[in-house]
Amino acid sequence: MKIGPIHSMGVIVNYKCSAKCRHCCYSSSPGWPGDYMSVETAGRVFSWMKSRRVRSCHIGGGEPFLRPEALLSICSLAKEHGIGIEYIETNASWHILEEKTVSLLRQLLKVGVDCLLISVDPFHNEFIPYSKQKELIRLCRKEGMGTFIWPGNFGGDLELLDTSVPHPIKEFDALFGGDYQSDAARSYGLNCNGRAISLCRGAYVQKRPGDIAGENGPCTCLTSTGHCHLDLYENYIPPVCTGFTIALADVDGVLDREKYPALYAAYERGPAGLWDYAKGFGFTPSRERYVNRCDLCFDLKRFLLQNHPTADIGYPSYFSQSDYERG
Ligand code: SF4
Ligand code: SF4
Repeated sequence: MKIGPIHSMGVIVNYKCSAKCRHCCYSSSPGWPGDYMSVETAGRVFSWMKSRRVRSCHIGGGEPFLRPEALLSICSLAKEHGIGIEYIETNASWHILEEKTVSLLRQLLKVGVDCLLISVDPFHNEFIPYSKQKELIRLCRKEGMGTFIWPGNFGGDLELLDTSVPHPIKEFDALFGGDYQSDAARSYGLNCNGRAISLCRGAYVQKRPGDIAGENGPCTCLTSTGHCHLDLYENYIPPVCTGFTIALADVDGVLDREKYPALYAAYERGPAGLWDYAKGFGFTPSRERYVNRCDLCFDLKRFLLQNHPTADIGYPSYFSQSDYERG
């Protein structure tokens, strides 16, 4: 098992977040440790990118703007290494005073950052009033900072309620009738991992674990490199596979089967392989039905972290902050 040429890469500078969105596949929340990527780690990350001919990346979290000075240092370092920043993801919660926000935008522009991805949807809106995102978008446009509104189709819905305060998702149920939360989850095309699993359970038909294991083959996406990440703990995070980690130091070679047994089990035989592996340590499914292979896989990884931890499974907060037992 080997990680091939990188197609699209992000840098996760923290997992702590000012929000606790129910669709968050990394289970980010205020409950995570306040760790932030150090300049030393960022240097190693950008050097590795250069060695892999990765010319640009995006920056995400958590909420990267929780530590603006550290974020600026990392962006500045990327520039020194010749790595372009495609965009920085943000929920806009940090915007309070126009003067401070403008100053930070100008500093970012100086170090070569010219686009923010600003999240606008009803899940973020449970924690952050839409007025903050709108105001940040306005200031970005005024200062010449590009914006990328993600996902781009919910602004009209958010405008229908008071934009100066956050709104529990149930208010949208009342406004539109029906199950707005599930409709929004389906239209989003969510990655069913982390905290998003609880949301997906309400939005999709669930199946027996045996059927899921029988229907799904090897998880070759573990070596795909579209939208993969490197994080502050110097781990490579495969795309859409929350809970699997690969040490940056190991990414360039063939992965050691003994060090990464769970990863190999999923890669070679999919959820059935990971289930067989976990059975050896006493795993039995905690639920009668699961949404899909990733829901079952998350339960397996959660069990393994608690009962047979190995280097390929992290981190406790992915699971403890996921509200996995809920709903
Ligand atoms: S989706 Fe973004 S804003 Fe929401 S909890 Fe996750 S990292 Fe934070
Ligand atoms: S089943 Fe597991 S390994 Fe496979 S894609 Fe889903 S999270 Fe990744």
